[in-house]
Amino acid sequence: MGANVLKVSGLKVAYGGIKAVKGIDLEVNEGELVTLIGANGAGKTTTLKAITGTLPPCKVEGTVSYMGASLKGTQSFHLVEKKLAMVPEGRGVFTRMTITENLMMGAYTMSDKAAIAADIEKWFSIFPRLKERAAQLAGTLSGGEQQMLAMARALMCHPHLLLLDEPSMGLSPIMVEKIFEVIRDVHRQGITILLVEQNAKLALQAANRGYVMESGAVTMTGNADDMLHDPRVKAAYLGE
Ligand code: ATP
Repeated sequence: MGANVLKVSGLKVAYGGIKAVKGIDLEVNEGELVTLIGANGAGKTTTLKAITGTLPPCKVEGTVSYMGASLKGTQSFHLVEKKLAMVPEGRGVFTRMTITENLMMGAYTMSDKAAIAADIEKWFSIFPRLKERAAQLAGTLSGGEQQMLAMARALMCHPHLLLLDEPSMGLSPIMVEKIFEVIRDVHRQGITILLVEQNAKLALQAANRGYVMESGAVTMTGNADDMLHDPRVKAAYLGE
């Protein structure tokens, strides 16, 4: 694997008196799919939010570098210009815009109109449900449809690094399969991915490497295949 795309060092986050992240180190290298798994409240979402600088008032310590440069002070809307895209928990689509408008917003850093139109068609072919509802307001879509749209919108900017926060949450088993198929496909195309997931089995099956987070700390890291067969991971996260 190649150079560091993302490097998180000594990250601490406190919400008032609650220490949500207690000094973690994490790396994602060029071309990798890395997953961060852990129980509810372990600090996974907080870690992603600290990376993208979208936390509510709280204390953050440590460093986050992306492509070798600090992300400190980078406004979230500038991240897309740096080819860093995030699909947040709860999707974060523009509810008062149509599906097509959401996709076009995702491509706001691109200028080639023909290429944007071709990308929209590509995503419509991957998610035909979005095509059928192209003119529907995103806020009226089902949870699964919003998840498809959020993924497609994030990928419209052709990100270098994609951060995904629990893409399987609230989806039917068929939709979970579909979303993971898209994740694996996007990874095969060379996009580097950091995937936060509750579904540890699917996440580790798709990933190259994994991190386990417990109560704000990283308690295990390694090759994803090895982790899938680790008795501690099996007992705590795979229900085996
Ligand atoms: P889940 O899988 O349930 O989404 P998580 O691993 O993503 O969990 P976080 O959402 O990062 O966990 O939460 C970590 C801890 O920080 C939890 O104890 C949570 O209650 C707390 N927390 C998160 N956001 C805030 C906030 N805005 N104010 C206060 N505490 C918060």
